[in-house]
Amino acid sequence: MRKGRVLLVAALLLAVAGSASGNAATPRGVPILMYHVVSAPPGSAHYPDLFVRPDDFAKQMGWLAKHGYRAVTLKRVYDSWTQGANLPAHPVVISFDDGYLSQYTRALPVLRTHHWPGVLNMEVNFLHGVGALVPWRVRKLIDAGWELDAHTLTHPDLTTLDDAELWRQVHGSRVALRRLFHVPVDFFCYPAGRYDARVINAVKLAGFLGATTTNYGLARPPGLFTLNRIRINGSDGLSGFASKLTNLTP
Ligand SMILES: [Zn+2]
Repeated sequence: MRKGRVLLVAALLLAVAGSASGNAATPRGVPILMYHVVSAPPGSAHYPDLFVRPDDFAKQMGWLAKHGYRAVTLKRVYDSWTQGANLPAHPVVISFDDGYLSQYTRALPVLRTHHWPGVLNMEVNFLHGVGALVPWRVRKLIDAGWELDAHTLTHPDLTTLDDAELWRQVHGSRVALRRLFHVPVDFFCYPAGRYDARVINAVKLAGFLGATTTNYGLARPPGLFTLNRIRINGSDGLSGFASKLTNLTP
């Protein structure tokens, strides 16, 4: 009995040592790209940099493929960081904020040619209305392997809300998306990158596994609730995109 227990402890120690020598011991930074609209900016656009032209987007994805990158979901990165699950040699997460129609009409076909998933940070309010993504298109994205994450109900600055409204926006958006699409909705994205300790706490209490910001850089643990991203602007084109990816501090 006693000997059996010693053997069991030894086996457990070996298992821990084994996993420590794998991915889990050296979690690496992963680029999470941030896109908004994938179409040419209309002349009236207040924030033209939020618009990336479809041909620029296609070239940027082609550049990633040519340089050995493979897109994965945030959950796969999380599983690698927390459990040592396998990742491609050069992983990248391609995230899309808010839920614009062009993310379905323009981004999906490009990602499909690479057999890559996207990550959709969906504002629940954006599911309906003129030019909305609407639920059936979100389902198509999910069917194509995309990960659905929450981006609140109405995109407020979460740091300005009282506790009840903060909870409604954070927890309520997760509940609404899970109910509509029957997927986990494990990650959260702070609207306009606005968060503080109270907001982070609400995100944790709502059961999310992590959250993305608009802070620039590679995403890496232990900051699972303040994950950096790399904003891709309309003015980046291919050369600006390539220099953003190649100038990242490892
Ligand atoms: Zn947003």
